[in-house]
Amino acid sequence: MIDRRRFLHLSGATCLASITGCGVTRPDSSHSAHVVVIGGGFAGATAAKTLRMLDPGLKVTLIEANAHYMTCPTSNWVLAGIKSVRDLCFDYRALSQNHGVDVIIGKVNAVDAAQKTVTLQGGGSLHYDRLIMAPGIDFVWDDIAGYDAETARRIPHAWQAGPQTRLLWRQLQAMPDNGLIVLLAPPNPFRCPPGPYERASLMAWYCQHYKPKAKILILDRKRGFSKQHLFIQGWRRLYGYGADNGRIEWQSITDNPVVALRPENTLETDFGDRFTADVLNIIPRQKAGKIAHLTGLTDDSGWCPVTPLSAESTRMPGIHVIGDAAIYAGIPKSAFAANSEAKACAMAVVALLNDKLPQAPLWMNTCFSLLSPGQAISVSMVYKLNSAQQIEKVKGAGGVSLKTDEASLHRESEFARYWYQSITRDTFF
Ligand SMILES: Cc1cc2nc3c(=O)[nH]c(=O)nc-3n(C[C@H](O)[C@H](O)[C@H](O)COP(=O)(O)OP(=O)(O)OC[C@H]3O[C@@H](n4cnc5c(N)ncnc54)[C@H](O)[C@@H]3O)c2cc1C
Repeated sequence: MIDRRRFLHLSGATCLASITGCGVTRPDSSHSAHVVVIGGGFAGATAAKTLRMLDPGLKVTLIEANAHYMTCPTSNWVLAGIKSVRDLCFDYRALSQNHGVDVIIGKVNAVDAAQKTVTLQGGGSLHYDRLIMAPGIDFVWDDIAGYDAETARRIPHAWQAGPQTRLLWRQLQAMPDNGLIVLLAPPNPFRCPPGPYERASLMAWYCQHYKPKAKILILDRKRGFSKQHLFIQGWRRLYGYGADNGRIEWQSITDNPVVALRPENTLETDFGDRFTADVLNIIPRQKAGKIAHLTGLTDDSGWCPVTPLSAESTRMPGIHVIGDAAIYAGIPKSAFAANSEAKACAMAVVALLNDKLPQAPLWMNTCFSLLSPGQAISVSMVYKLNSAQQIEKVKGAGGVSLKTDEASLHRESEFARYWYQSITRDTFF
């Protein structure tokens, strides 16, 4: 770990210069153009690195609110005690040292699309030629009475990794042996469609070993979920799903939604049903990160519409949106997809800066989900643009795990570990 002061020192004097001065900082004349990237998650960090790899003459500034990034991928693993929160942590030194990305640790609080400037909290602005926005998600707090950002400090969502993950893990450990965990799964679209069910699986595995009489009830704001038949098959085999003493129970509550959080960890539905939990994990409805809303990049859905070919906003030319915040109809919101969208976007931006047309990209996604520490399932797909410039699945590519014998499930859990190593390397180094 490095402290903030040392980090800023390592990340280069040019970046310090660009935030300390008043007024707008313009790129020096030796660079052809300046691309600013907001958000150093899987989308933004990959885009910044790829831009510099494609065109080493390009000035690229990555602005990220936190000096350390905590990955959501594998954060569910913490809940089975097979990983610690510290293992999720990355920083931006390598992007700066290996790729010459100017990294600014600071929060953007305004974008002026007409003037092509971004303004940092605390002052200082930067001029850009093109802007890539990758702020991830924010939560919709007003649809469950009594649950808001403040309450989430006590009743974690753990849908942004870090302190929230740690809090949920501590609550799980402190729960009585016969405790009830209630997990409220969000409506579509949301970050990581199989994530809530991987979480339930790993909490079930933990309970099997350390809280033998505990149960997990998933209340779902959808009628079905990603890889459902594979999860249910795994839960039947591992956790007695469907039997009287099954450890996991799943209920769709689309016709009787949760409307309020009452005292003592109780969820109340529209028809007055009440569910009181020892550990309550509410995963709220989601929308694009706040800066995307402030900039005017979102539509009524709360997400940012883009032209898939270039990732350019359909609302604001010159600004590209990638990762979870963007609408890539059909492609799930995942780290894998964010990384893939970032590479395609970087190629498009370099083409556009050189007055060329972007090439039609292919996007990829794979999501592994652990059923237990040694068993996993996956879904993968390749996507392309059709003649109407819309995203569609490449026929015959991808699909879900076909083999569910123990050796195959074990192999997939190994793939999940290797995937995590390679995606974090590809993004942050
Ligand atoms: C429990 C869980 C498990 C998951 N598992 C997987 C998995 O196994 N595989 C997979 O592919 N995906 C997985 N995901 C999904 C994955 O985490 C997200 O899809 C991915 O993080 C999206 O990347 P992003 O860059 O769009 O957003 P983020 O990773 O959220 O990054 C956004 C960044 O922008 C920064 N930011 C926001 N606003 C500002 C601002 N105003 N100024 C400066 N910086 C700002 C934030 O600090 C943040 O670092 C999982 C998610 C969860 C919750």
